[in-house]
Amino acid sequence: MIIDVSNFIDGETREVSFSEKVLIPENYCVDNNADVKVVGEISNEKGKFHFTGNVLASLCLNCDLCLKPFYVELKFIIDEIFSDDFSEVDSENDFFHFSDKKINLAEAIISGILFNIPMKAVCSDNCKGLCGVCGHNLNEGDCQCDKTYVNPKFEKLKALFEESEEEV
Ligand SMILES: [Zn+2]
Ligand SMILES: [Zn+2]
Repeated sequence: MIIDVSNFIDGETREVSFSEKVLIPENYCVDNNADVKVVGEISNEKGKFHFTGNVLASLCLNCDLCLKPFYVELKFIIDEIFSDDFSEVDSENDFFHFSDKKINLAEAIISGILFNIPMKAVCSDNCKGLCGVCGHNLNEGDCQCDKTYVNPKFEKLKALFEESEEEV
């Protein structure tokens, strides 16, 4: 994801494409590497570098319902300015920093991935989730549990209810 800009004249635009693995810094899954394809272009705009591109990232998430790892594909656009002038890289300016004439797109791509990860990640629309009693993955078949099971919090209420029934 590194672009060498040492021989890049002002006003010049170059096409850029990468296909690499990027390490996602958060622990979403067993596999923290995302397969990332980036196709875009970078322009030298008076010493600042403007990158725009399409990103296709395939990464592993754990299903919110059944907890199994599964892969999602995220598609998004990145449009970022890179500056090597430290004085411009502050909270008010939305630049990514680079140094040594080398622009590393990884940070911009990782923030794009984190921003685009779905709030609710479900392996399939038909995911049945886990059994609330034994934790069995119901996508792999049914378990023997009594699905009329009552949460222990409500056991006392249930007992009270049954007592009052007996008295009748
Ligand atoms: Zn699932
Ligand atoms: Zn069960």
